[in-house]
Amino acid sequence: MPLPSERAFVPFVSVENMMRLVHDIGPEEMMAGLADAIEADFRRWERFDKTPRIAAHSEIGVIELMPTSDGETYGFKYVNGHPANMRRGLQTVTAFGLLASVETGYPLLLSEMTLLTALRTAATSALAAKWLAPEGARSMAMIGNGAQAEFQALAFRRICGITEVRLYDIDAEATHKCARNLAASGLRIVPCTSAEDAVAGSQIITTCTADKQYATILTDNLVGAGTHINAVGGDCPGKTELHRDILLRSDIYVEYPPQTRIEGEIQQLPQEHPVTELWQVISGAAPGRQSAGQITLFDSVGFAIEDFSALRYVLDLLRHTPRFEALDMIADPADPRDLYGMLMRAR
Ligand code: NAD
Repeated sequence: MPLPSERAFVPFVSVENMMRLVHDIGPEEMMAGLADAIEADFRRWERFDKTPRIAAHSEIGVIELMPTSDGETYGFKYVNGHPANMRRGLQTVTAFGLLASVETGYPLLLSEMTLLTALRTAATSALAAKWLAPEGARSMAMIGNGAQAEFQALAFRRICGITEVRLYDIDAEATHKCARNLAASGLRIVPCTSAEDAVAGSQIITTCTADKQYATILTDNLVGAGTHINAVGGDCPGKTELHRDILLRSDIYVEYPPQTRIEGEIQQLPQEHPVTELWQVISGAAPGRQSAGQITLFDSVGFAIEDFSALRYVLDLLRHTPRFEALDMIADPADPRDLYGMLMRAR
């Protein structure tokens, strides 16, 4: 056996351990914690190295890497998006991520991120709504009742104080699943049979559907004055959810414009169309909602800093709870030039 000192062990959070962590804390509390971590990192936005995610597209989906660094810690996420997977009994989105030391390049954490992405996406959506949704918003339309939906509903309950969710999906089975999962949440659950029915009386509309096309989940006539729209599903080139006319009536808030202009709802608009970056609202550099009648739109695509914040949050948790395995991932011979010697000693 090689000597232990010749291998650097990396904490690995499996799906099993991620689920335990979420249950230790509670899903809503964990999303509140993630929202705080993301908000803290958005306040120091300018410290981060930023780049649009690197994508490899195919006819049926996309595979992406999302790197960033705050100068001390480096992070990346691998994520896919395959809308047709669901019909094959597979997830549309799966992910894993890594943190590493900028000083040495050595990994600090490897984690599953399919669950963590759902948690961080919902936390980011609710964080944006905390700054942008109309005062006293209590009802949210949830259009698209797939894998992300319950996380969105619970994050909005915990962080924004909504009390009602109006569910709609083209597949009634998805709505039943979502209603069943949220039955004991304390939210009033209203299953709806059309998008029009779902948005009736809602101050917040979340769209979270998956289809690799320019879809029109919402038409302009469905969006009343004062609404906050949380558009989550349109997140890669050729994949949008909102009719263009809605965008023209809205004040649009984005994560990182160079990425959102490629991937978000605003791919339908000219490059020069004005948008506000969410971090600017959070740091006080730009205004959020300014009037009760304003339509605010968070054009969410998911940005690397949110994953970085989520991974750092998880790494902090591991200091207090042993929900990880030590992964034998890095060969680190005592004499750094004697990698071959290490191999021979293992014989
Ligand atoms: P999913 O496949 O589990 O669920 C999508 C649901 O949308 C399905 O139930 C489907 O029936 C429904 N749907 C499709 N077309 C519809 C329509 N016209 N009207 C109503 N419902 C419709 O997918 P998911 O994991 O929940 O992800 C949803 C979307 O969110 C995906 O496009 C994904 O890429 C995106 N996403 C974005 C972020 C982000 O940070 N912005 C993060 C994660 C996922």
